[in-house]
Amino acid sequence: MAARCDVLLADALVLTMDERFTIHESGGIAVAGDSIVAVGPSASTFEAAERIDCAGKLVMPGLINAHTHVAMSLLRGLADDLRLDVWLMGYMMPVEREFVTPEFVRLGTALGCAEMIRSGITCFADMYYFEEAVAEATAAAGLRALCGQTVLRFPAPDASSYEDGLARARDFIGRWRDHPLIVPAPAPHAPYTCTPEILRDCAELAAEFNVPLHTHLAETLLEVEESRRVNGMPVVPYVKKQGLFGAKVLAAHCVHVDEGEIRALKNFGAGVAHNPTSNLKLGAGVAPVAKMLELGVDVGIGTDGPASNNDLDMFEETRLAALLAKGIGGDPTAVPAREALAMATRLGARALHLSHLTGSLEPGKRADLLVLDVSPLHNLPAFHRDPAGVYAQIVYASKATDVIHVMCNGRWLMRDRALLTLDEAALRDAAREQATRIDAFLGSREVSVLQKLVAVGGAIEQESFEVQVKARVPGAGQVLNVIASDDLTVIRGSRYHQFDTYWSFDDPEQGRLRYREDEFLDENGRVTGARARLTLTGRTHEERFGHVVLFRSRYLAPAAHSARFYREYFRPAAEHLVDKERRRWLVAYHGVEFYVHLDRLLTPATAGYFIEIKSRTWSRRDAEDKAAVIDELLALFGGSADDTISDGYVHIAAGKRN
Ligand SMILES: [Zn+2]
Repeated sequence: MAARCDVLLADALVLTMDERFTIHESGGIAVAGDSIVAVGPSASTFEAAERIDCAGKLVMPGLINAHTHVAMSLLRGLADDLRLDVWLMGYMMPVEREFVTPEFVRLGTALGCAEMIRSGITCFADMYYFEEAVAEATAAAGLRALCGQTVLRFPAPDASSYEDGLARARDFIGRWRDHPLIVPAPAPHAPYTCTPEILRDCAELAAEFNVPLHTHLAETLLEVEESRRVNGMPVVPYVKKQGLFGAKVLAAHCVHVDEGEIRALKNFGAGVAHNPTSNLKLGAGVAPVAKMLELGVDVGIGTDGPASNNDLDMFEETRLAALLAKGIGGDPTAVPAREALAMATRLGARALHLSHLTGSLEPGKRADLLVLDVSPLHNLPAFHRDPAGVYAQIVYASKATDVIHVMCNGRWLMRDRALLTLDEAALRDAAREQATRIDAFLGSREVSVLQKLVAVGGAIEQESFEVQVKARVPGAGQVLNVIASDDLTVIRGSRYHQFDTYWSFDDPEQGRLRYREDEFLDENGRVTGARARLTLTGRTHEERFGHVVLFRSRYLAPAAHSARFYREYFRPAAEHLVDKERRRWLVAYHGVEFYVHLDRLLTPATAGYFIEIKSRTWSRRDAEDKAAVIDELLALFGGSADDTISDGYVHIAAGKRN
């Protein structure tokens, strides 16, 4: 009596993608329960509950998307053609802080899963917030996934601190570790968004539960340069030092790694996810994939999140991986079609540390497969002289829309191009609704520089009132003499070199943004430290008391990013630079504390010195009293009340004296 199975795919061209790249010209696949029980001619002897005639069709392993953030399908097309930091810190993360909830994640995951099933993907590696919601929606859609719960050093939508994020990862892994479709994992986001402690703790957590660890490594040149500057070494040795390779690592990108680092990845059994579209779109570069493959690294192919790609199409991604390696290396033999398709299947499974389950059609593995129509016009004719020709056919000419049926874990997810586990019409409506809400949020944010500042984590430190005067003085001598005299008491003093970048906007109501880099100097003018701050100043002063001006609305934020980041993020209408040497004293005069600044302007080059006297205030009466004392001090320092500058140095820089 013939052996029985549940499903038999008969008379197909079977690409097993096993180690020997076995092809069966007219073979079958027998599936029982969740697994493959026979492949090739032997499968035809099975008696099946469901027999599918696949004549003229091709059966191959389901594709493996080795790196994505699937729920970001809801952010697709939100912000494009921006640099990685502006895109991530300026747009993605602020929107995520506002919108990302378990419901958002479930919807985004379902939408992404629908797209992935349509293009023949049966397994993906994910990293996001509320990863448990990703796992739930993925399991409901019937796909297999490595689900990485993000851990970051700053507050995330699902964790107010890194300890919260780590605890969430531990709970998640504990609950899902035995699931038939989901492999849970900790996902320390990247070395530059994590502390050494986070990297270590995540590696230990992964090792404790024997699950993989998902992270981003060496994505941009900037990341590598920063690692060299701050840690004294490139990215791979740095994470190795933190014990990251104590876990089974899946590292996305690895664009900027040298040969030594590639060898280290190989030696530690780390898998790499190559994301060619995302790397190109964000201008990150091209990973040395041919070298990685030559040295035996398990390299898979990923789409990365749909907000940086902008789709989840592994056919397109695999083709690009094969083409890029040739173009970059000037070598048309680099990453041939067969190898590219292996990256999208068996090697991808190895990179995810899931090759015992999926990645090739072999008895004992789970039944994760797709049936492809290789007879559309764009793929005709087919030649049989070279058996490897079929790989080129798939990689260079097949499209995601050629996928007819998809099965994962023995369950049909798509038959005759109809999704069986997801409701496309409902997903479409829900995604549109979500986009309307996000549009409204960004619309309201974009109207104000202050709102944009808050959105990039520019925690407002203060809104203050300040009385101040600024005036030319003939020289430094008289000021220094007064400072040294008994007329006032010096509480403390310091010296700086200050580089200010002022940005103004078309709408003057937006105020002016100042990016200041302070170099602290010692008595001999040597640099002893540095800091950067961002200040948003209101457009105008509130009131004048003679020459003394009352200012309001100074929002201070620690400048966590470069001047270039803020310039690209805020897109100011004009920019002016002011560079000066400043001596600063906190003094007590008539029992009131004032800051006194003695400035020498280097840019724009200006003769002489300027004095600035200022004090915090809290009421109109207090402001008026202090204004009177400031007038007195100004005279003492030799400043002329007729030579004050009410709007600061930026007006000199902008050529508008007043
Ligand atoms: Zn990513």
